Amino acid sequence: MTESKKHPTERDVFTIKRFRQVMWAVFFLTVLHLINIFLGDNETKLTKAIVVSGVMALIGFNFYLTKIDKEALARVLFLWTLILSVTYVSWLNGALGDTSMMRYPLLVIYSIFLGGIRLFFPTVAFLILSVLLLGANAIYGWIPNPPRQLGWDQVIDATLIIMIAAYASWTVNSDFNATLRNLNIENDKVLKSRATIQLMAERDALTGLHNRPACETYYKKATAELNDNEQIILLFLDLDNFKSVNDSFGHNAGDGLLITIAEELKRLLQPSDLACRLSGDEFVLIIKRNDLFNIDQFADGILKAINTPYHIHDSTIRMTGSVGIAIASDDRTEFDEMRKKADIAMYKSKQMGKNTFSYYSKRLQEENLRKTSILTGLKDALENNLLDLHTQPKVNLSTNKIESAEALMRWNRSNPYNFTPGEFIPVIESTELIHEIGKWGVEEACRICRRWHDAGFDNMSIAVNVSSVQLMRSNFSTLVFKALQESGLAPQFLEIELTEHVLIQHNKTVKNQLKYLKDLGVQLSIDDFGTGYSNLSYLINFKVDTIKLDQSFIAKVNTSSEHFAVVKAVIQMAQILDLSVVAEGVESEAVKQVLIDLKCDYGQGYLWSKALPEGDFIKEVARFNGDNDNKSSDFIKSET
Ligand code: C2E
Ligand code: CA
Ligand code: CA
Repeated sequence: MTESKKHPTERDVFTIKRFRQVMWAVFFLTVLHLINIFLGDNETKLTKAIVVSGVMALIGFNFYLTKIDKEALARVLFLWTLILSVTYVSWLNGALGDTSMMRYPLLVIYSIFLGGIRLFFPTVAFLILSVLLLGANAIYGWIPNPPRQLGWDQVIDATLIIMIAAYASWTVNSDFNATLRNLNIENDKVLKSRATIQLMAERDALTGLHNRPACETYYKKATAELNDNEQIILLFLDLDNFKSVNDSFGHNAGDGLLITIAEELKRLLQPSDLACRLSGDEFVLIIKRNDLFNIDQFADGILKAINTPYHIHDSTIRMTGSVGIAIASDDRTEFDEMRKKADIAMYKSKQMGKNTFSYYSKRLQEENLRKTSILTGLKDALENNLLDLHTQPKVNLSTNKIESAEALMRWNRSNPYNFTPGEFIPVIESTELIHEIGKWGVEEACRICRRWHDAGFDNMSIAVNVSSVQLMRSNFSTLVFKALQESGLAPQFLEIELTEHVLIQHNKTVKNQLKYLKDLGVQLSIDDFGTGYSNLSYLINFKVDTIKLDQSFIAKVNTSSEHFAVVKAVIQMAQILDLSVVAEGVESEAVKQVLIDLKCDYGQGYLWSKALPEGDFIKEVARFNGDNDNKSSDFIKSET
């Protein structure tokens, strides 16, 4: 048994039911017909009675066939029983003039309902043939059949036929109506699901706001219909620190918050505005207003709306957001471009300390372009080995010897706008790139210093600049350890230069890593000393070795008494704390002399040398320290 037989569809049930009804109707008709035959008085009475009884028996058999799942066979058998019996009775009744001819059109109709085209054509062909033969026989008298007298049996017969025809048309009509009703129901379903699909395609499932594609479509339409004094304002909103809500209260709470914020935003809109959620906690509002509209006030309203208190579990939290605003006054700006502009402005708001709004401007665009070219260019430079570490000597002011050097990153090859480290380092500090480039810097510095040692300059140490974000990653100390191991450089020859502010943040990761590195034997120095903080307890807490006095103090140490006083005080303090002091940015003999008088330990600056490539540096050390030149030439040879 097939699946469809086990679970018949509505349509199957309908037709088998209908088929049985038709058989019952015909059976009932044959009973009446049989009675009619006996009431009549013609000579073929007995033959007709036998034929009609045979038909009744066959109908009974067909009922049985439908019970044993042979419905198709039953239909064929039923139809042909009727066709043959009607033809035979027509023959008995003297052919074409008889009422039995009225059954022919009925048989044609039933054939198509019972068996479709498969039964229809043979039925029609057979009936036409039988009409032709019966007619020809009547005309040419091949086989004479008894002349027919009109009697009541014929009248009753005709009435019965009309009844069956009426029944047929009634069933066809009700079947047709039922089909039509089903069709309407199906059609309604299709329309409803189409509307749902449309809604799903346009809306964000979580908040019910419009989604990105719908936003873009709306923007296009709105700009195309823009009047002279109208403008489209696109506001890009990004929630501040939304991640921490998810992290501390779970994603369900985060979702709930997004839904509430979406509701708040909707309340600010007019019918001609559109709010959409781009992704996560990013929303875009498209506002169409005249050019007198107070955008500041509107943006402020958004920030206030977001700042309403939310209750999550037992806590009450207040959110803030950063908004970027871009304005279009014609349809020349594409949605994506506007979105990017508003995004850039939003980023500016984040940089300004969040919970504020900023407008997009040409300057912002340039800044952004600069950042993008730095990021893509540097990434490419790192991948293709186009970065260099140059080293700037640090001179021991009492021995007048170069004892160490500071490694400074150089991006000289394929640098699109000759960006300096002072320009590109701050840009990459907010990205992953600082960690990749920083890792390379540490490894390269260790390798360079190891090569110096191998060339005979075995007391030289190297200092590497490390950004605070690098230290906040817990794998930093491990990567330093590995770099030392792989290069074979002893830890005491590596110095790490940090700025003050990383040390005063009380960051546990930073603290642990610095302790690990100090225990390893790595040196620690404070860069740009004096520009940061007044609380100096970190000098003791972190066991700092060296402080590097910032250039801004050194440059004026011989011309300004205040600067002189500060430098003197720092050097004295360092002596008490047993720290060494490096003066940065020494450019003149006069400054050098003041530093020597103040007993500053080291000097670094253009007076001696700028940062040099590896080969030049070692030549400079050899020349300056007055060592024999063989060391440097050996080294240069081994490099080439
Ligand atoms: P910094 O650590 O204070 O480095 C000293 C800067 O002063 C260097 O600039 C150096 O070339 C410059 N300089 C040296 N002597 C003199 C002088 O006598 N006069 C003047 N006016 N300047 C002098 P540079 O190489 O452009 O580096 C700028 C900053 O970029 C560095 O400041 C440092 O903060 C950062 N940086 C450089 N390389 C790296 C690196 O590999 N990693 C990290 N994280 N930062 C780096
Ligand atoms: Ca430095
Ligand atoms: Ca410095």
